[in-house]
Amino acid sequence: MITFVDQVTLHLRAGNGGDGCTSIKREKFKPLAGPDGADGGDGGSITLVTDNNVTTLLDYHHRPHRVATSGGSGAGDYRNGSKGEDLTLPVPVGTVVKDANGKILADLSEPGMELLVAEGGQGGLGNMTLANRMRIAPNFHLLGVPGWAGDVILELKTVADVALVGFPSAGKSSLIAAMSAARPKIADYPFTTLHPNLGVVQAGEMRYTIADVPGLIEGASQGKGLGLEFLRHVERCSALLHVIDCATLEPGRDPISDLDVILAELAAYQVPEGQTPLIERPQLVALNKIDIPDALELAEFVKAEFEARGYPVYLISSATNQGLRELNFALGQLVTEERKSQTAQIAKRISLLPPKKDDSKYEIRTESQGENIIYRIVGPKPERWVAQCDFSNQDAVGYLGERLQKIGIEDELYKKGAKRGSTVIIGEQNGVVFDWDPLVDSVAELVSEERRTNQDRRQEYHQMMDQRSRGRAEREAVREASVFSEDEE
Ligand code: GDP
Ligand code: MG
Repeated sequence: MITFVDQVTLHLRAGNGGDGCTSIKREKFKPLAGPDGADGGDGGSITLVTDNNVTTLLDYHHRPHRVATSGGSGAGDYRNGSKGEDLTLPVPVGTVVKDANGKILADLSEPGMELLVAEGGQGGLGNMTLANRMRIAPNFHLLGVPGWAGDVILELKTVADVALVGFPSAGKSSLIAAMSAARPKIADYPFTTLHPNLGVVQAGEMRYTIADVPGLIEGASQGKGLGLEFLRHVERCSALLHVIDCATLEPGRDPISDLDVILAELAAYQVPEGQTPLIERPQLVALNKIDIPDALELAEFVKAEFEARGYPVYLISSATNQGLRELNFALGQLVTEERKSQTAQIAKRISLLPPKKDDSKYEIRTESQGENIIYRIVGPKPERWVAQCDFSNQDAVGYLGERLQKIGIEDELYKKGAKRGSTVIIGEQNGVVFDWDPLVDSVAELVSEERRTNQDRRQEYHQMMDQRSRGRAEREAVREASVFSEDEE
């Protein structure tokens, strides 16, 4: 019945990778001394980390846009761009992270868990890094890849730090209102409107939550009424505050027997294995309604009795705010201590950073668009390469072609029936559109001017592929035959 679900949508932008640089070293007597354009820095990433000192998503309601810095561009004279700074966002233990479509990405249920939510873009390589034996002085560099940008939803089932227990009409709701309403900033918190039963209280620098859940009645521990749900909620609170009505005139009710009824309920409630029984949690007593003279008199009379039982006692009025400062201070301290002892229990850091996945997989889909067939290539590697390509530079475009060819994309396109001039798109959305110009052929054409028909080319291609696979089969046969000979190549 009662769960306080807080939700906030974060708008994240990881840092972009810096561009590489194209530059040629110039020395006095050696005007072209080789490429010296350095690499761009990687963009900063954004990571969520669970932190016991953070108990609400309040900060993210106030500031939902978070940005990590971009990497610097590479420069000449071998100077690499700086790396973008990573951003770590502390979130409460128990935060559930979802993507923009509501799919759960992770349940950050333990202290010290971290989750990479927005990965920074790779920096682009400079022409000094791109140089090799075949390409001694490349006249291009790679662009930085944009960092991940998008929305992530944080959801928190709040567990109140302090549970208010007491009879109906003892003044629990009024107390929450009095303690949290005093801070106008807190009043913006969506809980306060959505769930009047939960309050966020500021105590100096720290913040804690108090929950008042109606309906604790005699027999709650046996599942009567709403009380059981309530106690389930209380299960994870770190402290209990007894709110006791000193002004009630109902027969059979007085502060001491009221407390005993509630204690009996708490004692009878079974908590899950490994948890501290409710009755053993830190408890405070608030004697309420002391603005009424009779109530004040009664409160002063029973105070010593409660103290003798070992409870810190506060005389308060939710109506006039008497005694609330002291109570707030005491609760704040108690919660702080409780959190410290929990922090000490963090054994290790649990990382939910995704393992370096195999990003070389790609897929070619055919889509018909009217008469034409479009070939769409999707996969992390080809998409990243496209992002890295400076299309205004012919050499950079050529390099992209080489890369695509190396992972077999040209062969795949042939197999799927693509022809020269076919429309090829790389990327899912905002893909880059090409009129396909097969690399292997265009090289061949430069060498010999004769133009062949598409038919010829197809045939030639298939012959070549056949030869290749035959060659492979032969090699394999030879290897198989030499299984028993020790000298492997
Ligand atoms: P809950 O059932 O424990 O949440 O109790 P409520 O906060 O709803 O309060 C029950 C009634 O007691 C309401 O009519 C309140 O106005 C009244 N009340 C609560 N606190 C005080 C107080 O400090 N002084 C006086 N005079 N009345 C109070
Ligand atoms: Mg109430």
